[in-house]
Amino acid sequence: MTFPAFPDAVPALSGLAAQPALATLAGPAGALAGSVLTFALEFVLVVLMVDLASGIGHWLEDTYGNSDTPIIGRLVIVPNLEHHRKPRAFLAKSWLESCGDLMLAGALLVAAAWALDLLTWHVAVFALVGSQANQIHKWTHQNPQEKGAVVHLLQRMRLLQTPREHGRHHQGSTDSHYCTVTNALNPLLERLRVWRRLEALLERAFGLRPRTDPGTGVRAGGRAAVMPRAGAASPAARVPLPSSARR
Ligand SMILES: [Zn+2]
Ligand SMILES: [Zn+2]
Repeated sequence: MTFPAFPDAVPALSGLAAQPALATLAGPAGALAGSVLTFALEFVLVVLMVDLASGIGHWLEDTYGNSDTPIIGRLVIVPNLEHHRKPRAFLAKSWLESCGDLMLAGALLVAAAWALDLLTWHVAVFALVGSQANQIHKWTHQNPQEKGAVVHLLQRMRLLQTPREHGRHHQGSTDSHYCTVTNALNPLLERLRVWRRLEALLERAFGLRPRTDPGTGVRAGGRAAVMPRAGAASPAARVPLPSSARR
């Protein structure tokens, strides 16, 4: 994955948004404002790409993974299934236990980009934010006392995914709302039925079918989970969902 180097990407993005808005600003102040706006836009796009990557990885794990999947079966899929059954159990893991594998993947991504002379700040931010995707996920399962005031505030500001948004994944059969970093992409992906369309495509092309749970024959997932309610003393409180989000 490569990105144009900043400020090489400035004309592309600023041509879309920044330049027209700043066309009336002249001189260095206008150029600085344009650069800052462009940087902010590109930063947001990189974070959304991390969110999308988290969704794709999560969808693949939940839909096609099982304990026999090579390499990641025992390491990733089994803990993921356990997370659906006991959503708060993974909170017992340390930060390093939760994020170590993604930090290693992020380091390898940065090293590969550097070796190919493709390293930009976009790659570094993608690796950095992506390496913390599991921690961001853990915060959605913690109550305010557990995650602290700063994280709680960032969630309330919608800069991090909220417990309510992630609760939609754990609600019902855990076959929707796979992105775990922000609140931005899940509604769009669900409205467009992206995951179901991809599954239909893979089944037509390769005969690949979603995993079914042993015994029930029902497609991958788990029972409805218990999520912390914002401000609730009890971490076992269920997040109430708007009727439109109930499945
Ligand atoms: Zn899941
Ligand atoms: Zn979860």
